[in-house]
Amino acid sequence: MYCSRCNRSISSKDIEHKNQELKYRFGVDSLERGICPVCGTKLIKRGGKDED
Ligand SMILES: [Zn+2]
Repeated sequence: MYCSRCNRSISSKDIEHKNQELKYRFGVDSLERGICPVCGTKLIKRGGKDED
């Protein structure tokens, strides 16, 4: 997944882990809703093999 605003990508295998951490530490569930936890922009699927 990719945030066009932050110009930052998160690989799909990291998303689950990061989502858990954000939920645990901050009560933020943006990632599981497909939203960038930093800026609130909808994340874009890039369709790569490891980085989507
Ligand atoms: Zn962002």
